[in-house]
Amino acid sequence: MRITLLAGGVGAARFLRGLMAEAPDAQLTVIGNTADDITLFGLHVCPDLDTVMYTLGGGISEEQGWGRDGDTYSVLSELAAYGAGPDWFSLGDRDIATHIHRTSMLAAGLPLSSVTRVLCQRWQPGVELLPMSDDRVETHVVLPGQGEGERTVHFQEWWVRMHAQVPAAAFVFAGAAEATPAPGVIEAIENADVVLFPPSNPVVSIGPVLAVPGIADAVRAKTVVGVSPIIGGAPVRGMADACLAAIGVPATAAGVAAHYGPELLAGWLVDDQDKQAADAPELAGIAVRALPLYMTGVPATAAIARAALALAAELAR
Ligand code: GDP
Ligand code: CA
Repeated sequence: MRITLLAGGVGAARFLRGLMAEAPDAQLTVIGNTADDITLFGLHVCPDLDTVMYTLGGGISEEQGWGRDGDTYSVLSELAAYGAGPDWFSLGDRDIATHIHRTSMLAAGLPLSSVTRVLCQRWQPGVELLPMSDDRVETHVVLPGQGEGERTVHFQEWWVRMHAQVPAAAFVFAGAAEATPAPGVIEAIENADVVLFPPSNPVVSIGPVLAVPGIADAVRAKTVVGVSPIIGGAPVRGMADACLAAIGVPATAAGVAAHYGPELLAGWLVDDQDKQAADAPELAGIAVRALPLYMTGVPATAAIARAALALAAELAR
């Protein structure tokens, strides 16, 4: 069976662990969001690709959910001693090695998709990990201005430095309209038996992937089953509600499914707490199933993956 997923970072990586336990023989392709990417100290950092790669490759910091296990921060503290910023984005020494290697390969002219393949030769994540595009796409956050008009910051500055506390007026996926899908992306969607949306941030993780021209059209032609990242009206971890508020989507399981819409989504898994979403008129045309959606460990997550595959099989009939 061929399964293709659109993915952000932590929510996607956790779901993938369960999916791989549930369907060990499936051929998995992960199309990762690269709009969170940021250049820091001249290094190209890909937070979402790395979270998936480290998690599935056994190198993740389990406590944080991102970054390398057992990391130290000598390089960052040496930079701080020079007064070199920014000081709000944490980069461990082990993690920096990944970014140095990535940046030097990019500087030598390799596209990000090839660079990611090289990095995965070490980590052997067990999935084909593709960036959504080899072209640079960056999520920018428009903040309401005080007096002199609005101000735009990189997504990471809003998310990490401001903790999404300043209400966002809008998100802009800079470069998306001119970007092309990375090699293999459209084929992986077209050739998939099922396309899954893991419980990733719908606005700033899945949103930019779908904004790359050609990807949404390819996805629309498939049977797509999604897993709600919202349980009981709140994100389980992270601040996805701040993103949804900015685009006027209610932070509910039904709100997120309606945002994707029935043209994109055939099936939607919600938590038992949200089972009333099955009766929501705005979800007409989307098959909703309720089950426990907390990814508390691999067995619980495998059960979510099993339900997603069962719903996809039912809908494809
Ligand atoms: P990020 O790029 O690291 O922010 O990660 P993603 O976009 O892949 O996923 C973040 C989303 O995962 C958040 O919006 C959370 O609501 C969701 N999430 C985290 N843990 C769980 C969980 O246990 N169950 C469900 N259903 N969603 C979760
Ligand atoms: Ca992310």
